[in-house]
Amino acid sequence: MYKVRADFPILEQQVYGKPLVYLDNAATTQKPRAVIDAMAEEYYTVNANVHRGVHYLSQRATDLHEGSREAVRQFIHAVSTREIIFTRGTTESINLVAACFGEQFMHEGDEVIVSVMEHHSNIVPWQLLASRKGIKLRVIPMTDKGELELEAYEQLFNEHTRIVSVAHVSNVLGTVNPVQRIIQIAHAHGVPVLIDAAQSVPHLAVDVQQLDADFLAFSGHKIYGPTGIGVLYGKEEWLEKLPPYQGGGEMIGHVSFEHTTFNELPFKFEAGTPDFVGTTGLAAALHYVEQIGIDEIAAYETSLTDYALQQLRTIPDMRIIGEAPERGAVISFLVGDIHPFDMGTLLDRLGIAVRTGHHCAQPLMQRLGIEGTLRASFSFYNTMEEVDALVAAVRRVSQMF
Ligand code: PMP
Repeated sequence: MYKVRADFPILEQQVYGKPLVYLDNAATTQKPRAVIDAMAEEYYTVNANVHRGVHYLSQRATDLHEGSREAVRQFIHAVSTREIIFTRGTTESINLVAACFGEQFMHEGDEVIVSVMEHHSNIVPWQLLASRKGIKLRVIPMTDKGELELEAYEQLFNEHTRIVSVAHVSNVLGTVNPVQRIIQIAHAHGVPVLIDAAQSVPHLAVDVQQLDADFLAFSGHKIYGPTGIGVLYGKEEWLEKLPPYQGGGEMIGHVSFEHTTFNELPFKFEAGTPDFVGTTGLAAALHYVEQIGIDEIAAYETSLTDYALQQLRTIPDMRIIGEAPERGAVISFLVGDIHPFDMGTLLDRLGIAVRTGHHCAQPLMQRLGIEGTLRASFSFYNTMEEVDALVAAVRRVSQMF
């Protein structure tokens, strides 16, 4: 794995005279040269608006853009490119489902099931819907280890349940939720499921058909692609039934002042000029990940995370937040009563980039009875030596307090 580091020029730099140890991959990943080059190349040689042009460049840009959609389809094993909608990211994908599914299928008194460990982007869109339509949020609880309580989950279903929306992997606890089981249970009640795959698609193989997910969202920038591009997967049968999200060019069939018809899938949900250079970057990123192999990535990151957990636990007063056996490449922790912000600031001075705070999961922090954590999150380009550097720095900083 170590040889891939050469593909990420940003990792070579020093900060404050120390080698940069970038462990904030759950927030965003670095971009390999292949992604940056593919985007630069498109701007240098192809740039033209997609879909509507008869001219050469526009057709090439369209081919690239639609080719990227096919790359996404293959990566998550969707049946058809009609099921792949480009959005700005996970947040917009979830907002789209909340708005369109909510508009079509939810009425006052109806319920959405989310979990206690959701990112704000899988809570607030449903709350906005709640204030518009009078729907209710029901919350799956978790154990102290950070595992969702499936029996309690089943108890939440009733005749008002319309949709379930849960994270595949928690961005705080690292827990890999049993989404296949969660989907089976929902389907047994005739309820569709949206999976927030922001933290799973970059780290483990995700197959929407095998999962039988109805909707699934992820962000390009967390899987080595550019910012501002993301994906909403939706089963065709569901997407066909939903109204459009935003109005504008591209999403229409025919417009007159009397009556407008809408475009076919997936364009019905893609108003305006799409980020066609972003989609090229995303496809290059997925291609890059495929070349390394998602299973190899998962295995390597698991060994890195296991090693980090083992080493961090040797530090006095270390508290790992999230002890689920099934976990991804995210470790949240606290040391004694040291404030995460103070520790994070001092780690930064030692060249270690970690995240501190509530990680956009304040309800989860409330459940845990804490204000925030430090969070180290790994990628395949991180090394065992970087884990050692993290552990040594945490030990050193904790001795200072
Ligand atoms: N869900 C989860 C689990 C996340 O970790 C994040 C990003 N931290 C998001 C949603 C939101 O992703 P984005 O900001 O790229 O839309």
